[in-house]
Amino acid sequence: MKTLIWFRNDLRVKDHEPLVRASEAGKVAAVYCFDPRHFETTTYGFPKTNSLRAQFLIKSVSALRSTFRKLGGDLIIRQGNPEEIIPKLIKELQIENLFFHGEVTSEEKNVELRIENSVEIRIKKYWGHEMVHPEDLPFQPDEIPDVFTQFRKKIEKSSMIRDPLPVPNHPEFISVDDPGEIPHLKDLGLNAPPADDRSVLEFKGGEEEAWKRLNHYFFESDELRNYKYKRNGLLGADFSSKFSPWLAHGCLSARSIHHQVEKYEREVHENVSTYWMKFELIWRDYFRYSARKHGDKIFKLGGIQQKSLDKRTDENIFQKWRDGTTGIPFIDANMRELKQTGYMSNRGRQNVASFLAQNLNFDWRWGASWFESMLIDYDVCSNWGNWAYNSTVGHDPRNRYFNIVGQAQKYDPNGEYVRHWLQELKYVPDEFVHEPWKMSEDQQKLNECIVGQDYPKPMINLEDSYEEIKKRG
Ligand SMILES: Cc1cc2nc3c(=O)[nH]c(=O)nc-3n(C[C@H](O)[C@H](O)[C@H](O)COP(=O)(O)OP(=O)(O)OC[C@H]3O[C@@H](n4cnc5c(N)ncnc54)[C@H](O)[C@@H]3O)c2cc1C
Repeated sequence: MKTLIWFRNDLRVKDHEPLVRASEAGKVAAVYCFDPRHFETTTYGFPKTNSLRAQFLIKSVSALRSTFRKLGGDLIIRQGNPEEIIPKLIKELQIENLFFHGEVTSEEKNVELRIENSVEIRIKKYWGHEMVHPEDLPFQPDEIPDVFTQFRKKIEKSSMIRDPLPVPNHPEFISVDDPGEIPHLKDLGLNAPPADDRSVLEFKGGEEEAWKRLNHYFFESDELRNYKYKRNGLLGADFSSKFSPWLAHGCLSARSIHHQVEKYEREVHENVSTYWMKFELIWRDYFRYSARKHGDKIFKLGGIQQKSLDKRTDENIFQKWRDGTTGIPFIDANMRELKQTGYMSNRGRQNVASFLAQNLNFDWRWGASWFESMLIDYDVCSNWGNWAYNSTVGHDPRNRYFNIVGQAQKYDPNGEYVRHWLQELKYVPDEFVHEPWKMSEDQQKLNECIVGQDYPKPMINLEDSYEEIKKRG
């Protein structure tokens, strides 16, 4: 039997069920399509995929192609809509099976459906993005509990996590005349991304790089031992795992990470931090299963709560947030980091989301779209799910919000992080670094930071905004 494997956000050969099953069935061919819709301009006026993520993607696809070439085959590359390319390839190569990893959100499912409707061969969808396989859940995948703790406890009690699958030994490849070229950024309509050495890490796409990072974080630097206590950090490569870009592109599977945590627990040390790594991966599954259950509600203003909301949508306000010129250092530092590097810590993401959706009372979907454009680790379910959650339209209906300055003082007590990204605050003393507007005129002059001139005035009065949030209920 001849099988075509369609690669999307699963750019790996380890723990890849479609590849394993296709190799068992006979000869294989593999294709990746650069879908032009992923590089369109959004209704908000910025690209759906920015150059930092596109660069990571190109690197990951190239790495996968090299791996296939080492295995004696190739990865077919095409630019265009998969629903047009795949039926054509099926015909050309006389393919009998089409295997791929299933996605759960509507844009991706619609493409799958169009392919399913246009070919008559056997199609098989596998589940490999999740850590817990849908068949191993203690409930129906579309009926997960809406409260995370219930979801987690039931999984911890009764779900096993499958072992990752090995790379097939000697897959037999179908020979292909025109394997196609990997596009450059400019072919996708993008310019070279910023290169900023202030980035927490130089993220390089590909499966081998993913495993390098895992081995560094778990076994070489032994940072996993302290993960729970350092994961809220803001500066440096090792405060958290930084696995997210590789997970989002599927260079590494969540099951493989889980398996390696258990290896670490057996061979090195087991503690609350090793548990916490598995705990965070359950959050990732939770957002994926939630998207599967709630469908397009996760993209709506009122979220899965279906709340009726009246939110601001003023371009000028949004511009200040996205450029990091709000006048609130903790927000600005995080937003500038995102723009320059495509990464932001989890603590930062929670605060900037809360600031936009709650303090500014803004339509949170603009923020989620900006993240979608900018994040190297953009993952549709984790992004929209976390945004909805932080905008109180997700699973937790409580009116939760962050005290931004309080968070800044707790997680960046000496202002090291904000000064890293905001040169303007270089000489501002720790006491004022998160609230420069509180300096007297003389202090501003002395510390070379005139508010409203060297650094923006705060765009809102934070204290007043908390009162408004409470009133909104
Ligand atoms: C508004 C907002 C938007 C987000 N958008 C994304 C996104 O597009 N893609 C993405 O991968 N994560 C997203 N997250 C979740 C989280 O911030 C990142 O996964 C994490 O910061 C990545 O860094 P890390 O790999 O070092 O995480 P670690 O702390 O080392 O965690 C290990 C892994 O656990 C998973 N994880 C941890 N926290 C979460 C979480 N809250 N939700 C889901 N999975 C989690 C991730 O896969 C992560 O790589 C978002 C969070 C917020 C608040």
